[in-house]
Amino acid sequence: MVDLLPSEIKRWQNVESLARQHFDRAGLKEIRTPILELTELFARGIGEGTDVVGKEMYTFSDRGGRSCTLRPEGTASVARSVIENGLLNNGPQRLWYGGPMFRYERPQAGRQRQFHQLGVEFVGLESVLSEAELISIAWDFLKLVGLKGVKLELNSLGTNEDRSCFRKQLKVWLEKKYELLDKDSKQRINVNPLRILDSKNPNTQKLLEDAPSLNEFLSDKSRERFFYLQELLHQLSIPFEVNHKLVRGLDYYSHTAFEITSDQLGSQATVCGGGRYDGLISDLGGGNTPSIGWAIGMERLILLLGDSFTNKDVPCVYLIHRGSNTDGVALDVARKLRFAGIPIELDYSGSTFSKQFKRADRIGAQWALIIGEDELSKEIVMLKKLHSSSSDSLTTQFSFNLNEIDNLITFLKN
Ligand code: ATP
Ligand code: MG
Repeated sequence: MVDLLPSEIKRWQNVESLARQHFDRAGLKEIRTPILELTELFARGIGEGTDVVGKEMYTFSDRGGRSCTLRPEGTASVARSVIENGLLNNGPQRLWYGGPMFRYERPQAGRQRQFHQLGVEFVGLESVLSEAELISIAWDFLKLVGLKGVKLELNSLGTNEDRSCFRKQLKVWLEKKYELLDKDSKQRINVNPLRILDSKNPNTQKLLEDAPSLNEFLSDKSRERFFYLQELLHQLSIPFEVNHKLVRGLDYYSHTAFEITSDQLGSQATVCGGGRYDGLISDLGGGNTPSIGWAIGMERLILLLGDSFTNKDVPCVYLIHRGSNTDGVALDVARKLRFAGIPIELDYSGSTFSKQFKRADRIGAQWALIIGEDELSKEIVMLKKLHSSSSDSLTTQFSFNLNEIDNLITFLKN
């Protein structure tokens, strides 16, 4: 698990704030669910045969003997909350969430045991139009933060019936190739053969090139849906590729599944994954509620954005002070400026003025505010422009009355 250090945090905050604005503009509402849930929620919601539930969850008994799990993803929790709080009584829900998720995986670049997702869920929406909008919200967000070199891949997993025919045929085919499969895939053959399509093993992927394709098993209705989605994406000028092998890791998907990948992340290529999960809400005890969602991996996104996305966060004012009785006055002035929305940092050192000025320079402040014994006796503060090319102190230095701090505030704001 990884610390997020002050040096990196600005990038996170920028991405988060762009996300919030983007979601607000699309009329999405935020939902925050607990990080801890009963294990049963994920076992039922994600599926026992998946890697996430089978191998990756942080599960323990609490003091009341209940089996609890740190959430490995957000969708099951959102679904639970929507059911429990009767949110669907107010119609379909267009929601977003963000926060830490936990999976016991082998840590590497872009893969951590605590990681963060940003996700959108459309609960109770069935139309292909809602799918196109949901995908466009992800696509536009990645454009908004300036991500380049990304690709949208799309597939249709059809209905349960479509998939069960396919599963049978795929199993027959895989059994013939059993000896050529990797260890993980051999184990999956009986539990969850579709997941083998999702294998990250290159040899298995090569082998699968000749496997039967899910596409051939889609009903006419499923196929029509899929074509309509493609048509809408064309109209939106969102480029995509159809990938019939795209199945996604979790059990609950049906019809549309999609991923947005980058060519710069090695085997951690997926930045955003999503799809339709029509059965989830009813599996968890709610009514029949077609739904669709996606999640973006924040660590991967931020890795990809690299340094392009830092803007140096410099305080406007550095408050230099020295001498008896200046402590309280300095802190008081700082508070007044902060109340007025002006970022200001206070020097604590009591060292020489020149040392304090050096520090102000080092952190890149635009102004130094100076309170020494001399100023205090005259009941003024001095304001000095830093990094100024002009040597004329008349244009770079100003004094303000301590009893009229509002004048200083007005000056700094203009
Ligand atoms: P992968 O195939 O890379 O394991 P996944 O299919 O398990 O991904 P999802 O469950 O769809 O991933 O989660 C959505 C997104 O969350 C992923 O596309 C990825 O960006 C991010 N993500 C998933 N697991 C991790 C992790 N362990 N560390 C960092 N990001 C992750
Ligand atoms: Mg995974």
